[in-house]
Amino acid sequence: MGRVQGLLVGLVLVACAGETPDTDPFAATAAVTTAPASGSAGASTAGHDDGDEPGSSDDSGDAPGSTGVATTGSDEPFADIAIVARPDSIVDAGGGIWRVGERAMDDVGKAFYAAHPDDYDFLVVYTEGDDDQLGAYAHAVQDDAHGIGLDGYGPAPYSPADAGSAGRLMQIDFMNAPALYDDGHDASIVIHETVHHFSAYIELPGTPTEAFLLDDGWAHWNIHVNTGGPSATGYGDLTDLGGGRFAFTVIYPLTLSPLELYLAGWLPPEQVGPMFYVRDASDYDPPSPPFDGPWRHGSYGQDASFAGTRVDFTIDDVVAANGVRSPAFGEAPSELRFAFVLVCEDTAACDPQALAIVEAQRTAMATQFGEATGGRASADVRL
Ligand SMILES: [Zn+2]
Repeated sequence: MGRVQGLLVGLVLVACAGETPDTDPFAATAAVTTAPASGSAGASTAGHDDGDEPGSSDDSGDAPGSTGVATTGSDEPFADIAIVARPDSIVDAGGGIWRVGERAMDDVGKAFYAAHPDDYDFLVVYTEGDDDQLGAYAHAVQDDAHGIGLDGYGPAPYSPADAGSAGRLMQIDFMNAPALYDDGHDASIVIHETVHHFSAYIELPGTPTEAFLLDDGWAHWNIHVNTGGPSATGYGDLTDLGGGRFAFTVIYPLTLSPLELYLAGWLPPEQVGPMFYVRDASDYDPPSPPFDGPWRHGSYGQDASFAGTRVDFTIDDVVAANGVRSPAFGEAPSELRFAFVLVCEDTAACDPQALAIVEAQRTAMATQFGEATGGRASADVRL
């Protein structure tokens, strides 16, 4: 399993289902279907013509140092959710199950851009149906950062053009069915998938094996790593209990650790403090994990304590092994625009409960993203 596949393994929800691309029945199908042509198959804004609500133009977040304080948009219900018709590449399998094909996000993107300007860094896509084999995942379309462990492993052959963007789109966060998010007001998984654009992919010198900091899919920090604090792509934090024991704790809502902030370009390297990992872990408590067992080095996202040997590392080690982050802090985009999209069977009658959850996620993201980044980045969630 390589890094490109790892990029496609988003997932999680609190249960961290940890699905793997290897079991994705669509992984080998490369079926490309044409985007919906027009009319009801196109994209629209729910109950509202896009672009005419106050402040919807690309004028937000232009104050230097603005910190995640974004208005959430129009007062009209769901006016800032883009509605896209289910493309043929998402198959209704019955019983509320939708099978999302490999290039389906391209089709959704093309339908979205048929009705909206190319003014967004991320599309956050929900589907009325539940693909019970995919969870959520990050679909990167642009290789816009270096020194983060992805050089040579970027999103190629995907490009923004595949999804209908002339070049601005960085990634599509596939969120699956809104009903999966029990607490619609916690945007943690939107943040998690967004941070996957930058993390976790790095190497360190001198580790016992390749990708020693990561999970089996090479996209999350495993439970044996401390990246300076609670992390979004590790689902929590590792603490040193003393006496050669350590504890990993899942922590929600998810926030970015100092290393993740650096990898995203939102923290200068000199502000990333000391970090560590644990090798030769043993004596786990509990003896078996609640899911996805048995315990192994790549386990992630589950509470555990264990014995082991602490190895300290610094941001200098990260830079030495992965190169200098570029664009650098201060040049990397940090005032990001997100378009929230719901794929519906009948665009004129989307499931109102699904719309309500997407709206809750969208409005939560407006403030929670800023909080999760310590005010170092902001999310404009308006269309
Ligand atoms: Zn993930």
